[in-house]
Amino acid sequence: MKYDRTFNFSAGPAMMPEPVLEEIRDEMMNYRGSGMCVMEMSHRSKVYQQIIDDAEKDLRDLMGIPDNYKVLFIQGGATLQFSMIPMNLMKNGKAVYIETGAWSKKAIAEAKKVGEVVVAASSKDKNYTYIPDCSDLDIPEDTDYVYICENETIHGVTWSKLPNTKGHILVSDQSSMFLSRPCNVSDYGMIYAGVQKNVGPAGMVVVIIREDLIRDDLTDLPIYLQYKTHADAGSMYNTPNCWAIYCCGKVFKYLKNLGGLEVMQKMNEDKAKVFYDFLDSSKMFKGTVVPSDRSLMNIPFVTDSAEKDAAVVAATKAAGYDNLKGHKSVGGLRASIYNAMPKEGVEALVEFLKKYEAENS
Ligand SMILES: *Cc1c(COP(=O)(O)O)cnc(C)c1O
Repeated sequence: MKYDRTFNFSAGPAMMPEPVLEEIRDEMMNYRGSGMCVMEMSHRSKVYQQIIDDAEKDLRDLMGIPDNYKVLFIQGGATLQFSMIPMNLMKNGKAVYIETGAWSKKAIAEAKKVGEVVVAASSKDKNYTYIPDCSDLDIPEDTDYVYICENETIHGVTWSKLPNTKGHILVSDQSSMFLSRPCNVSDYGMIYAGVQKNVGPAGMVVVIIREDLIRDDLTDLPIYLQYKTHADAGSMYNTPNCWAIYCCGKVFKYLKNLGGLEVMQKMNEDKAKVFYDFLDSSKMFKGTVVPSDRSLMNIPFVTDSAEKDAAVVAATKAAGYDNLKGHKSVGGLRASIYNAMPKEGVEALVEFLKKYEAENS
């Protein structure tokens, strides 16, 4: 591999496309004749305004975001959205959440501090290894929204079909699958994604929110926590995460030039198939998620013992495959293979695991 880089299977921050990193390197000392690095630039300058405008435009093109949706770049990561969502969207003080893993659980805990949470479906009974049937949920008439985590980064489950919200708005945490496949934005009231999983550097979230959901009657809410503040100021109420916006903008353009999200989906399906085919044929390793709900991005897998799991993690690391240890809450192993992970990385890891299995069984 060029630059002696490792195949990095981290769940996030995670790999970025190499051509993007090279472009960033080339612009590091003097961004396009401005005489400065983007890190050093005033966010109120013309040159920076162009960067943020282009980033938004490229994201809109990429996802086909309708004009009645705002795109916001907000700090505080995806985690702050666990609070901002109920604070801004609970008008009746009630929301439906679907519990499918660690990240929806965290969102539920925060929402409970703000209002009433109805957990209408959960896969807790089987340790979050599947997506519950949400075609006919009991949804209270006065619920303000239905909330899902569309790809559970830790448990490795993903929604192949959105829940039937019975006319209520859908709010989705897409952090670990953002831009991995086409997305029909109009199906949602709000989509958000922490960018350090599948797009860029940590410390920022992209919020895509339908305009009519942005309220101006929340004046008691701290100003920074109101979507209106960020929408009115073009994501520049205060100094934004200029660097992350710049890097994400480059990734948006890169994905557009590759052919967009349909192409990404095809690449991601091909790549994940290599890994799942291996798991399904292995005697030593097995995937933990039911096949129909498997994530294309995060693949948890196990041997039959924690000791063996740890030995495999150590062996992969020594061989140059980094960050395969499963999250501490579930153990085992996990390969995160986001957009920027090349297929060769997955193939090389699979070859390594096959050899490991042959030598150790
Ligand atoms: C990582 C992650 C978060 C939290 O992101 P931060 O930016 O660290 O706050 C939330 N939801 C999902 C699905 C994630 O993968």
